[in-house]
Amino acid sequence: MESKKVVSFKSLNKTVGKFSLKERTFLIPQMNRIGGHLLAATFRGFGIQAKVMDTYKGLDLGKEYTSGKECYPCQITTGDILYFMKKEKERLGEAFDPDDYIYFMPESSGPCRFGMYNKYQRIILDSLPDLNRLKIGSLTTDDGYSLSGLIDSERVSDLRRSSYFSVVVADILDRLLWRIRPYEREPGSTDAFIEHSMHRMEDAFEKYGPGKKFDQILDEMEIIIKEGKDLVDPAIPKKPLIGMVGEIYVRSHVHANQDIIRLLERYGGEVVNASIAEWMNYTSYDRLRDAKIAFRLSMKQLRFGLMKEHLKKIFGYGSELYYQEFRQKKVYDRLAAQIGIVRDHKVGHLEEVLRENDLFSFDAGTEACLSIPGIVEYAREGFNGVVNVYPFTCMPSTITSSIIKPMMEQLDIPYLDTPYDASIQPGREAAIRTFMYQAHQHFNQHGRKAA
Ligand code: SF4
Repeated sequence: MESKKVVSFKSLNKTVGKFSLKERTFLIPQMNRIGGHLLAATFRGFGIQAKVMDTYKGLDLGKEYTSGKECYPCQITTGDILYFMKKEKERLGEAFDPDDYIYFMPESSGPCRFGMYNKYQRIILDSLPDLNRLKIGSLTTDDGYSLSGLIDSERVSDLRRSSYFSVVVADILDRLLWRIRPYEREPGSTDAFIEHSMHRMEDAFEKYGPGKKFDQILDEMEIIIKEGKDLVDPAIPKKPLIGMVGEIYVRSHVHANQDIIRLLERYGGEVVNASIAEWMNYTSYDRLRDAKIAFRLSMKQLRFGLMKEHLKKIFGYGSELYYQEFRQKKVYDRLAAQIGIVRDHKVGHLEEVLRENDLFSFDAGTEACLSIPGIVEYAREGFNGVVNVYPFTCMPSTITSSIIKPMMEQLDIPYLDTPYDASIQPGREAAIRTFMYQAHQHFNQHGRKAA
């Protein structure tokens, strides 16, 4: 693609933000494959033309338009959108119009660089002929990923709730994959089964999502879990249980993390990755927490107008968090016990774990708030090892590592840091093999978490 000089930054306000999705194709980047597809299906159920973009095919383009200092997920997603647009141009020729699409790239107001991806990508798109009219649809953690402005206001709440539900169900389907695959009777059967099941669930979300007929969706999931159980060879003994934490994009994106879960399985592990819903709950929890702090401050200052404003926020974020945790619990209550799927930690509990030893503070934010206490909890619950998966130079994950490593003796559990970029590290497999050897020893001495 030919580039020209950027002359203005005005488009950061005009072409990054919340735009109506009516009559446009909503392009969803692929982070975790199942989650992206169920979310797109949910949007389609609401009449929005949503599509999950192919991923990792445009990595060369991503590298070409970045300097190497950006976070790895920024390189990958930049490549994904440029590659998609290139292919659409080739497919449609003269009929190609970038205004027909909204590219979805959320952001966070935290202290790390995630808030900058969409701005940086805006600058790149503006520098390319035609693509300056491609809008970036951005949701932010500032308002707990509110969807207002994307569709008719009376449907916003239903879309949000169905979207959240799709995230929880996608987590369960992912966990079903990791639960079955290490014990499968026939090699390759689980991957094929889960791929097929994902498409079944897409149909279910398109059909039942708009009416919030969640029980019908869970009926289908229940059938899938029953079928999945049949793939398991009961003669294969239980294996060491490995917990995974880290940066959400790289730990969920199998190409970005060079399929680390499969590698851990190859060396005899069963893996549970931290979920996507945990992050959604964390953003709602954090907004509620901020609103409570602001309310207390305005009360001290006797600023009644502000108090009222913050109370409204407390009510809004509080009910959202309550709804999410309630909905997630209902799903796990119905499905988890059937095949021993591990449940998520509650965010409020993770904050208490951090406070116990003053390890870190939610005031500082970022995924370190989840990863640090998540590791402590994995150790206490009887996991046999923990892996921290993250992009090379990722700030929150480096913080996690620096706080956790000195605690390893106390936690008495094998731990491994696995930073990734696009290169292949020759010693990575040896490190994972050694880690798994330690995990096996831990398993032999202590057993493992009961299902
Ligand atoms: S979490 Fe890590 S990878 Fe993501 S933006 Fe922050 S520093 Fe970059």
